[in-house]
Amino acid sequence: MVILGAGESGVGAAILAQQQGYDVFVSDGGTVKENFKQELLQYQVQFEEGTHTEEKILNADEVMKSPGIPEKNELVKKIRKKGIPVISEIELAYRYKGNSKIIAITGTNGKTTTTALTYHICKDGGADCAMVGNIGFSFAKQVAVEPKALYVVEISSFQLDDIKEFRPDVAVLTNITEDHLDRYEYRMQNYIDSKFRIAMNQTAADVFIYCMDDEITRSNIHRYPIKSTLYPITMSKELPQGAYITNAEMHIKWKGEEMQMSIQDFALKGKHNQYNSMAAGVASVAVDIKKEHVRESLQTFQSLEHRMEPVATIRGVEFINDSKATNVNSTWFALESMNKPTILILGGVDKGNDYSILMELVKEKVKAIVCMGTDNRKIHEVFGSVVSLMLNTASAEEAVQAAFHFASKGDVVLLSPACASFDLFKNYEDRGNQFKEAVKDL
Ligand code: ADP
Repeated sequence: MVILGAGESGVGAAILAQQQGYDVFVSDGGTVKENFKQELLQYQVQFEEGTHTEEKILNADEVMKSPGIPEKNELVKKIRKKGIPVISEIELAYRYKGNSKIIAITGTNGKTTTTALTYHICKDGGADCAMVGNIGFSFAKQVAVEPKALYVVEISSFQLDDIKEFRPDVAVLTNITEDHLDRYEYRMQNYIDSKFRIAMNQTAADVFIYCMDDEITRSNIHRYPIKSTLYPITMSKELPQGAYITNAEMHIKWKGEEMQMSIQDFALKGKHNQYNSMAAGVASVAVDIKKEHVRESLQTFQSLEHRMEPVATIRGVEFINDSKATNVNSTWFALESMNKPTILILGGVDKGNDYSILMELVKEKVKAIVCMGTDNRKIHEVFGSVVSLMLNTASAEEAVQAAFHFASKGDVVLLSPACASFDLFKNYEDRGNQFKEAVKDL
């Protein structure tokens, strides 16, 4: 087996494949990070970096392609042309997971939060489980080094593109909005198809949880021959099966049983997190976690770093780090959950954003916008006429100082940039950390 890419997925797949007796060769066209190199050496996996030895690769029986490598890569094209089967890391992990169960979570936004929340509920509820995919090990590595009875797996659309038999017992599709279109020939339908692959191999014995209030999900679900038992979540009406919120009460309905909980008791605040809490609640009930554990764990979960993370309150001004909001949809949900006058820090690398969807919320809640990016023209064009206080900054420190300057007691400063971060920062974590540092320095 040839493994393309020696990052978290590639190295995890290599460890598992080697353990299962495959003849493994890992090839990475770039440089392999030191920690991954050490791991490959430790497990005595053959590998190369900085080059791809084509005669070796094109002789493979099967190729595991890391999710970061696009189809337009020349080598991938040659592999496809030769007809060599290509799988993703989750497909390989699936082959060797034995009798274990899988909760698989995908969607444009909310994957990590829903995954972490589901894991927290299952673990506190006594399940022998691991969280894999983004936080923690790759799925393949977990299966190789520390197998569990239940895996809570966060899955990107790229991972779903090369599944064959991967069949989760419980699948969650949080929502679908435009993202990553560069990897899908700029066709939204391709991206949607990719997301729905999560349910492709499910049977009636399996559970598919999806958000009925998500327009794209709702209008596309009928296009696919889904055999799974459907458990929708919604805030718009009562359901016989699934989860819904009406009058600030969440109801989970599962096989004739019902659980209720006030949304005031959710540890995670904001409307988007009410959806995530519903999805995680149903997913946990579906793997037999008791209602009282679900209720308790939804109350005790601690928020994740860089996702609506409370940083500090300084002279009555609250600072929130939502650096992970790298698209407009995430920022919409962040703003939606604000109940105080907001100073919004926005900007970075724009992936073709349509800011107009934020307009109503900005009008209603935002008293100042601090732009933080190298090119802020578009933000000025869109919001210049509705927000009177706008300022350009080019570092987290400047942005935090400007925002604090605009703020009065009782306001909130929200970093929710709607953009990628690599104009001024290494990544969204770096952006969030610099923001937090700057707040501490005030
Ligand atoms: P992902 O792993 O899919 O990128 P995260 O859980 O890391 O998602 O959250 C990313 C951002 O998306 C957060 O900043 C949050 O504000 C926003 N978000 C989280 N859950 C949802 C949701 N269900 N719908 C829309 N936006 C969400």
